[in-house]
Amino acid sequence: MGVTASSRGARPSRLHLSPAERAPIWRQVVEAIERYAGVVADLRVAPPLDREKLKALLTPFDFSRPLAPEDAIRFAAMGLTEHQVHAAHPGYYGLFNPNPTTMGIAADALVGAFNPQLAAWSHSPFAAEVEAHLVRALAGRLAYGPGTADGCFTSGGAEANHTALLTALTDAFPAFGSGGARAVAAQPVLYVSLDAHDSFLKAARLCGIGTDAVRAIAVDDAFRMDVGALVARIGQDRAAGCAPFLVVATMGTTGGGTLDPMAAIADVAERESLWLHADAAWGGAAGLVPELRDHLAGMERADSITFDAHKWLSVPMGAGMFLTRRPEILERTFRVATGYMPRDAEGLPVADPYAHSMQWSRRFIGLKVFLSLAVAGWEGYADAIRAMTAMGDHLRARLTADGWRIVNRTPLPVVCFDDPASSGPEMKVRLEAIVRDIVASGAAWISTVTLGGTTPAIRACITNPETTDADVEALGSALATARAATSRPRL
Ligand SMILES: *Cc1c(COP(=O)(O)O)cnc(C)c1O
Repeated sequence: MGVTASSRGARPSRLHLSPAERAPIWRQVVEAIERYAGVVADLRVAPPLDREKLKALLTPFDFSRPLAPEDAIRFAAMGLTEHQVHAAHPGYYGLFNPNPTTMGIAADALVGAFNPQLAAWSHSPFAAEVEAHLVRALAGRLAYGPGTADGCFTSGGAEANHTALLTALTDAFPAFGSGGARAVAAQPVLYVSLDAHDSFLKAARLCGIGTDAVRAIAVDDAFRMDVGALVARIGQDRAAGCAPFLVVATMGTTGGGTLDPMAAIADVAERESLWLHADAAWGGAAGLVPELRDHLAGMERADSITFDAHKWLSVPMGAGMFLTRRPEILERTFRVATGYMPRDAEGLPVADPYAHSMQWSRRFIGLKVFLSLAVAGWEGYADAIRAMTAMGDHLRARLTADGWRIVNRTPLPVVCFDDPASSGPEMKVRLEAIVRDIVASGAAWISTVTLGGTTPAIRACITNPETTDADVEALGSALATARAATSRPRL
């Protein structure tokens, strides 16, 4: 006879509550999620920052007395409601953080409960095969032909970029895996644009080649990597005895949504025998929209691609992907022999995730992507991305009509702009004052950015398919008001 929960007698610990105790907790959690979804548009997008208040709220938690579960959950929901920037707010024009998909939220709850272990394939064959299926499906949609792609899920874009450095080093320097960077005779160097993501600096440090190995190549007047400058720098580095091994094309920079000239960079990589990596963390999702796809042309030539599902695919945080058309490279980079990992899958043509990626024990990242995609379909995603892109065009038009100057050039919905009434050092100060006013109002969240190392701008990105024409008009009006206020002399 099967063992039922009640026949197991008294609870041995407070860690696992009884079915009768659990039922109201699950209800309370679902209610908290629904309440948040219902009120988020009416909250301040960014709350005031008050660390002392938070420390005071946490002081009573010395964990000496057990708390009732409903009180604990109520406390967490209160803290998350009152003390965070709400990316799900339609007035959040921020850094690619999404309004998370319904199915993504459901997936994260299921993953927490079933808790598959994604280290060994044989422990969680379903989870491992769902992720492998998604790698093939997304790689196929974004760049690579069927059957040629490999990849792995990562915590986000930074880990995927770190993976790119490791695979490129492993490919270029056979001694790197065992001997480390000191076994490489010449200083390895890599190339990114001035506006590339700074995770490449961290990755260079973590790989042991150091941040000086990262060559930030100048950009043209549209903030795209200057390919002439790239070629010149590679020549100088070779002449100086360095060992170029990697060039990164960013397909949608974080600051300006800029697409580097992929085809020209791919030509250079081919001529110079460099690993070509496309950082398409956010912009890669444009590949799911037929009329935007051409902007990613050439990405199929990249040896590897970073893609972040927790950006434009709008799944909850912690879902990046590293994709590659070099099927053997992940094993070469990450495989180690252990005496304790399960061998049940030996003989099956499968890859153990722990021997195929950076993490070891890890959660089932792919389910939130799988369930979101299964329910929305490619069409559902194309529609959402299309709507956000149209909203970006609307914002650009409104700002231009109001006399702002658009300073970036991209088909994607990142709008960077300044005020032609200002110039020189005064410009940055004014733009920052305008952004402070808007964020302090609680109605919207925007930011300032510096493009190409020298051009200050205000940055507004459409990240939420729920952002409407009316929201964009409200932002336009708030910006006009803030501009008028900051152009008056301050006392
Ligand atoms: C966001 C971003 C990253 C870093 O990704 P995380 O998910 O934050 O780790 C890397 N590259 C680009 C272009 C990005 O926009």
